[in-house]
Amino acid sequence: MAGPTIDVEKCVGCGACVDTCPEEVFEMQDDKAVVINADACVECEACIEACPEEAISL
Ligand code: SF4
Ligand code: SF4
Repeated sequence: MAGPTIDVEKCVGCGACVDTCPEEVFEMQDDKAVVINADACVECEACIEACPEEAISL
C-alpha cells in the first residue's frame, strides 16, 4: 500500500495524526508530521478524520 501523503504547507504540527494512527505511520520532525512507515498503513482513514487542517490524503 502507498500509505498517506501529508501536505506540509497545510500541516500545523498539532500531532493529532501521530496520536491517532494505530500503526505508528507518522512521527513529528521539526514541528511537522512526516510519514515514516507508509507500508504499515492499513488505510483506516483515522488520520484523515483527525487532522484539523485536511492535510492528509490517501
Ligand atoms: S489511514 Fe490509518 S493506518 Fe494509515 S496512516 Fe492513517 S491512521 Fe494510520
Ligand atoms: S493532524 Fe494534520 S495538522 Fe496535525 S500534525 Fe498531523 S498532518 Fe499536521
